[in-house]
Amino acid sequence: MPELPEVEVTRCGIVPYIENNVIARVAVHTVNLRWPIPTELNVLLSNQTVSTVSRRGKYLVLHCSTGSIIIHLGMTGHLRVLPDSAKPSKHDHLDFFFNSGILLRLNDTRRFGTVLWTEADPQQHKLLTNIGPEPLSELFNDAYLYQKSRGRKIAIKHFIENSNIIAGIGNIYANEALFHAGIRPSTPTGKLTNSSCHKLVNAIKDVLIVSINSGGTMFDFRNGSEKLGCFHQNMMVYNRGGKPCQFCGKIIKQKILGKRSIYYCQTCQR
Ligand SMILES: [Zn+2]
Repeated sequence: MPELPEVEVTRCGIVPYIENNVIARVAVHTVNLRWPIPTELNVLLSNQTVSTVSRRGKYLVLHCSTGSIIIHLGMTGHLRVLPDSAKPSKHDHLDFFFNSGILLRLNDTRRFGTVLWTEADPQQHKLLTNIGPEPLSELFNDAYLYQKSRGRKIAIKHFIENSNIIAGIGNIYANEALFHAGIRPSTPTGKLTNSSCHKLVNAIKDVLIVSINSGGTMFDFRNGSEKLGCFHQNMMVYNRGGKPCQFCGKIIKQKILGKRSIYYCQTCQR
C-alpha cells in the first residue's frame, strides 16, 4: 500500500515528464474507483498545462491552468509514464495523454484509488484540509508530538497512522519507525516521555528519508527506467515475524493490533 515515500517517489518520477507539458486529452476507462472519476475530465483538461506536481501526505496534486487534479493511489494504485501508443489493459483506469507523445496511466487492481478535480485551492479540499503536518517538515517536531500525545490512550502505532496527526504514515513505516525508536507499537500514546517523543520523531523522519532515497517499496521509475524500489532491504521488523532481529538476534514478534499486523522485537522495543 503506497505510503508517503512511495507517493513521493512517484511524484519525483513523473515530474520530468509532465511538469510544464500540455495535456492533449484524457481517456477514462473505468469510472468507478473509490469515488467516481469525473467523466468530464477530458473536456476540462484538454490543452491545459500541468504547471507543478505537489504532494500532501499520500495525495498527489497536479496543478493545471484552471484547477487541480487530486490523486490518491488507494491500496494498489500506481502511475506510469508510457509512450502514448501503449494500449490499456485490465486495471488501467485512466490515461492522461500529453502533447509530448507520452501518457500518464493510472493502474489500480483493487480500485480504492481516487481521482478528483477541483477549481478551488486544493489545500482547502475536504480530503486535504485536515491532514496533519508533513513529517519531514519542521512543524513535525518533539514538542508537537509530545503535546498531541498527552492524555491519549490509543496505541502509539495507531496514533502515528492517523493522518490528522501526521501526514502519510501507514503500516510499514509505523512499524519500522517504532522499532528504530525502541517503542512497542501497543504502548499507550499518553505514556510517551519527552525523550521517547524525541526518538520517535527522529525515527519517523529517518525511515521516510531512507525509503525515499531507496525508491520506496513499490515502483521506482526515477531515471527513466521502471524498477522495484529497494527499501525492503532496510526493513528491520515489517513482514519479518518469526525471523531474528537484525540488531539483537531475538525472534521478531508478529501480533494483530486493531485488525492489522504489528511487528516488534521484545528486547529492542519496550
Ligand atoms: Zn532486537
